[in-house]
Amino acid sequence: MDNLFFQDKNQIYNIIISKAAYEQMLLYCERANPYETGGILIGNYSLNQTTANILQITEPPKNSKHAKCNFHRSSCGLKKLLDTAWNQDQFYLGEWHYHPNASTNPSCTDISQMITLAHNSKLKCPEPILIIVGGHSNNWELFISVFSNKRYTILKQLK
Ligand SMILES: [Zn+2]
Repeated sequence: MDNLFFQDKNQIYNIIISKAAYEQMLLYCERANPYETGGILIGNYSLNQTTANILQITEPPKNSKHAKCNFHRSSCGLKKLLDTAWNQDQFYLGEWHYHPNASTNPSCTDISQMITLAHNSKLKCPEPILIIVGGHSNNWELFISVFSNKRYTILKQLK
């Protein structure tokens, strides 16, 4: 399997997930099932800013809360993680989490959390990406979106 490419129907947003990061994310989901899990997305943007490259998927920070229908990511150790990424010219790009054995539809909480994160001046990420993994190891489902101005745009997989 190669890197995964995603684009919205107006061809404004492009997202590439590295093969290694994608496989890592599914591994975390498989281990967490039947509980939710999640973390943050780290990577960079292309020079013309049209493509986000997701290069690292982090596991849940310490003190995150996992339940079957809820995941609350703590910010424990996040600053240190992002400082290290910064030294590699990589940045916070957004969030991912897992809906075990369920659909990938974002909940109202998911949406309001992303809008809050978009306005978080410390994260400096006005258009954060949200990835939701659904299903299970025999049938993964993927929801990829970019939040901008309190709305989100869904991206479809190209290859
Ligand atoms: Zn959710």
